[in-house]
Amino acid sequence: MSARLLDGRPVAAALRASATHRVAALLARGGGPPKLAIVRFDTAGPSAIYAAGVSRAAARVGLEPVIVTPDADSDTRSLAGRIAALGADPAVAGILVTQPVPARFEASTLVNAIEPGKDVDGATAVSAGRLARGETALAPATALAVMELLRAFGISVAGRHAVVVGRSPVVGRPVAALLLAADATVTACHRATRDLAILTRQAEILVVAAGSPALITREMVSSASVVIDCGINALDGTVCGDVALEVQQVAAAVSPVPGGVGPITTMMLLRQTLDVAERLRSAE
Ligand code: NAD
Repeated sequence: MSARLLDGRPVAAALRASATHRVAALLARGGGPPKLAIVRFDTAGPSAIYAAGVSRAAARVGLEPVIVTPDADSDTRSLAGRIAALGADPAVAGILVTQPVPARFEASTLVNAIEPGKDVDGATAVSAGRLARGETALAPATALAVMELLRAFGISVAGRHAVVVGRSPVVGRPVAALLLAADATVTACHRATRDLAILTRQAEILVVAAGSPALITREMVSSASVVIDCGINALDGTVCGDVALEVQQVAAAVSPVPGGVGPITTMMLLRQTLDVAERLRSAE
């Protein structure tokens, strides 16, 4: 049997169309395009590429990306002040601090300087706390992308056993919280988990965010498993996920890498930015 492939690209395209429509509707009500502020530290490397990708995607739907780069002599306090000022600016709907934050800054101080109401990547302690409590919250984009992929393919979550491999604050933990909020029964696995395969085989929904190429092999899934692969790993000059290709011969459904969760992630960031922008405009 071969798994149904959960292709994220058409899902992302539909989300892009919806975002473009929402920006146009906001502009028709007057005022400038909502801004998405991206705090960026590097001009090269993965985080710079990520910032450029988000910026392009935002501009493509009609939002105004604003790249914020720290001055050479800025310290945690001054940069946190700039981030807080963005929070007070009514033209700014979303704020994102790219990772990793260089060691000369205190990362948590910068992240928590984001106004929680504009924390469109769910990075602050306030957002994480709300999510952990099961309250409505702005959530990390990758975690939302997992939920959106499941929704788009009509995969029900309530009452099902979801196993999450990985417990990082950006992917594993928030995915587990969102699945729990959607009434799944959730098992959270991590590096210290014993007998991972016994647990993953029980999964009706298996979400993998470990950063370990081909961690999940065919023996670790069942024919009933829906497997969502969040991994993005560089291997021998190509990009691969955390799920071995052979899993596609066994599982019921698999999200490919590239092309599964990845394309949807940026769209979730934009969707949350628009949620905030619409709230700000209706409060004017
Ligand atoms: P991380 O290194 O912060 O966390 C990895 C987690 O996986 C940890 O909790 C660790 O305990 C667990 N883990 C690692 N090896 C394991 C093993 N052998 N068995 C069980 N658990 C194990 O990584 P992260 O930031 O959460 O990212 C995870 C993956 O997701 C990476 O490949 C990353 O590139 C990718 N990612 C994708 C997106 C996206 O948009 N699709 C966004 C962020 C991260």
